[in-house]
Amino acid sequence: MLMSALQPLSVLENATEFQARHIGPDAADEAGMLSVIGAASRRALIEAVVPASIKRSVGMDLPAAATEAQALAELKALAGKNKVLKSYIGQGYYDTLTPGVILRNILENPAWYTAYTPYQAEISQGRMEALVNFQTMVTDLTGMAIANASMLDEATAAAEAMTLAARVGKSKSQTFFVADDVLPQTLEVVRTRAEPLGFNVVVGPAAEAGKSECFAALLQYPGVNGDVRSLQAAADAVHAQGALLIAAADLLALTLIKAPAEQGADIAVGTTQRFGMPMGNGGPHAAYMACKDEYKRSLPGRLVGVSIDAHGKPAYRLALQTREQHIRREKATSNICTAQVLPAVVASMYAVYHGPQGLKRIAQRVASFTAVLAEGLKSLGFALGNASAFDTLHVQTGAQTAAIQARAVAAGMNFRRASAEALSLSLDETTTRADLAAVLAVFADGKALPDLSAFDKGIASLIPAELQRTSAYLSHPVFNRYHSETEMLRYLRGLSDKDLALDRSMIPLGSCTMKLNATAEMIPITWPEFAGVHPFAPHDQLQGYAQLNEQLTAWLCQATGYAGISLQPNAGSQGEYAGLLAIKAWHESRNEGHRKICLIPESAHGTNPASAQMVGMQVVVTKCDKEGNIDLADLKAKCEQHSANLAAIMITYPSTYGVFDTQVKEICALVRSHGGRVYVDGANMNALVGVAAPGEFGGDVSHLNLHKTFCIPHGGGGPGVGPVCVVADLVPFLPTHRSAGYDSKTAIGAVSAAPLGNAAVLPISWMYCRMMAAEGLQAATEVAILSANYVAARLADAYDIHFSGNIEGIKGGGVAHECILDIRPLKDATGVGAEDVAKRLIDYGFHAPTLSFPVAGTLMVEPTESESKFELDRFCDAMLAIRAEIAKVADGSWTAEDNPLVNAPHTAESLLAAEWTHGYSREEAAYPVASLRRQKYWVPVGRVDNVYGDRNLSCSCPPMSDYA
Ligand SMILES: *Cc1c(COP(=O)(O)O)cnc(C)c1O
Repeated sequence: MLMSALQPLSVLENATEFQARHIGPDAADEAGMLSVIGAASRRALIEAVVPASIKRSVGMDLPAAATEAQALAELKALAGKNKVLKSYIGQGYYDTLTPGVILRNILENPAWYTAYTPYQAEISQGRMEALVNFQTMVTDLTGMAIANASMLDEATAAAEAMTLAARVGKSKSQTFFVADDVLPQTLEVVRTRAEPLGFNVVVGPAAEAGKSECFAALLQYPGVNGDVRSLQAAADAVHAQGALLIAAADLLALTLIKAPAEQGADIAVGTTQRFGMPMGNGGPHAAYMACKDEYKRSLPGRLVGVSIDAHGKPAYRLALQTREQHIRREKATSNICTAQVLPAVVASMYAVYHGPQGLKRIAQRVASFTAVLAEGLKSLGFALGNASAFDTLHVQTGAQTAAIQARAVAAGMNFRRASAEALSLSLDETTTRADLAAVLAVFADGKALPDLSAFDKGIASLIPAELQRTSAYLSHPVFNRYHSETEMLRYLRGLSDKDLALDRSMIPLGSCTMKLNATAEMIPITWPEFAGVHPFAPHDQLQGYAQLNEQLTAWLCQATGYAGISLQPNAGSQGEYAGLLAIKAWHESRNEGHRKICLIPESAHGTNPASAQMVGMQVVVTKCDKEGNIDLADLKAKCEQHSANLAAIMITYPSTYGVFDTQVKEICALVRSHGGRVYVDGANMNALVGVAAPGEFGGDVSHLNLHKTFCIPHGGGGPGVGPVCVVADLVPFLPTHRSAGYDSKTAIGAVSAAPLGNAAVLPISWMYCRMMAAEGLQAATEVAILSANYVAARLADAYDIHFSGNIEGIKGGGVAHECILDIRPLKDATGVGAEDVAKRLIDYGFHAPTLSFPVAGTLMVEPTESESKFELDRFCDAMLAIRAEIAKVADGSWTAEDNPLVNAPHTAESLLAAEWTHGYSREEAAYPVASLRRQKYWVPVGRVDNVYGDRNLSCSCPPMSDYA
């Protein structure tokens, strides 16, 4: 019998398989796309649109591509170098039991993790309901009037509370008081943030709060060493001088102890980590901020509010603060943009699933174990430093401190070194009887263990009677209905069904790079070796993370051309902040601290001016020309005018208009010649990786958005990672983390609560780089550019492409990785505007492109490399069909007031109404293209009324009667 020959193993073993999974178009698709554009090859297209002057001199030096299985195995081995010990460290991080129904159906579910920030309200009702639950949970537990939809971590939330207090308080003092039992990492971040703003941080015993002049005081409740003390005296003292009280409060404790608002606190902050999010070496977790009603217009971060839709039905949408940096720029209250939506959804659902009784039982169990442990320790002869406690005991260990801590580690436990002579232990919902016996055995050191029969007799609470909580919380039906797993599963499924995420269709958002978040990249984040470790565990237990950090930063240095990177910032905005602080510190190190002018082009993302303001720089806006490039004459004039005081320029490259400015090298050189440093906002790195490197073409500092370019999913608005990348002479100024045992004389302070920031999502970017390798990453960039040019070419006859390279022979003119469609001429002619097109796309089953950024009245499309030609065509077909609809308004077939565009999106309910009075048919409304008859996304609400929502601000769960 004749056997056919197999291909050589060298071919069959080829490990580039992941590239082909990540990149949507195949070779045949590419050829088709190139012929529409009019380019001979992908190479030729890239040569035509990317300026030769910025091209990389050498390729990226990365390990050869691994397959999914190989990369997972390699990462598993690396993860195995972390030691997962039972943690009693506390200090803001606790072990928690993530309910399986939440783990699988939210944290590991692309319907939740691939969603975008809910700017398009109609297709985001599910996640916004979850966020309103979050806000309600926080306001109920803290007793405050209003809460936002998450902060980055407890430490930055406390720092934001400090600036909120400075804005809204009556005191003219520049002093911020911090109690000495606030979490050390919080104090560290507060110090970093206070310095450039000129605030004086004074640390003292909590009892001293308000005794001397300050504009606000920050107290930990309960304190880091466990004390549960009333906030009332501090509140009275600070209020007497027109100052504010900020309480950093533990939400689980608040189920048992009096709410901060009930004791006079004005602002509450904290983390929601222990509500179901694994410690993950420090993040991601949602922090919260809540405040009195009168401060709501100054509250940083995003706020979800209840409004009504076009049919008068209740509907959620982002309220007030939405995109406030884009409107208020350097006067914005904060630079926070990407927050922690996915962890906030997890925390809110933990409260929904357990309900008020369930949470209380968990808290009582913790409090009871703590009281039993206190008895046990006392019977072994140890004195406690705290007379009151919820979950933490401060144990006077004297000369035995080091020995006990070492025995604990040997027995698989971490205790916290509270001082040279004391340890502190924090319990959590995972603590068992066996755990307590093991803890006591460490202290007993061979002596007989105390009798723990108190477990079954009941024990007196260590919470002072006057601080016992009596007020109700979480009484809304949403926290009382879904306690069986079946009900919970269906609730979660029902919410995600209301939303459009990447698991249903492309999300063509300019500037946000909504690309594939591959399953193989996501799997490691919940591995116990990554998820189960405490950020302040001894360094030798975190070797897996240390190596992950080392490898990922080395690869990102290759991708960016920079010399050093810190992964600590928790979002792009935080990377900007850290980068500008590094520039500031560098100027100061040269005795040029007076350099405070930061030039920012008018096209910049709103976080840029907001970040510059936070480091105490003064923003000077520079102009852009008609093509979207920086106006060089204007820049020259401003450089000369401010030469002596120039600190930096912040540019985005390719620009926010999606063009490669050919003069970027001159711009960088010009600023440098005046003594300034160049900050390149790296949000658009998806147009550059492998092709050009900002560290090479003139940048001194950049931040990356790993949640854009490097595949961390958007999570509905977070988590993010915003690494700050710098050239060699700025490396000494990268952020350090002293409370985690790192130090450096020159470094700026900590910018996040944890040394590795949102550490637990770093494996995603590691996997991406490991599987794509240098050629895959470069191919991704090239295909992203190809796809944007394909969309531009297909739509060029129907829409004005706002900025393009005007390259001859390239249909659409040549763009970078995104293109801007100008709807303004159509609006002038027909009344149909960009928002109508955005909302009409929903009827076609698409998420809208970026609306009115960076140019009002336009749509910015970034298709990314991950979308197949099939999907790109489906999108272009929808856009062309919409253009034909606009033509029907123009020619009078439909009126400007009544057409499927201005009435979009169409709910099933409105389409099924007994009476149909519109000048177009139900079919034209619902099924404008035939494929929708086979598969259709049904939008749950009609167009949401933003103005109504801001006038009637309501940010907690609406009463069920609203839905009747
Ligand atoms: C997304 C983005 C940012 C901010 O990043 P966050 O992670 O949301 O803070 C900054 N600049 C540009 C150009 C961006 O697109």
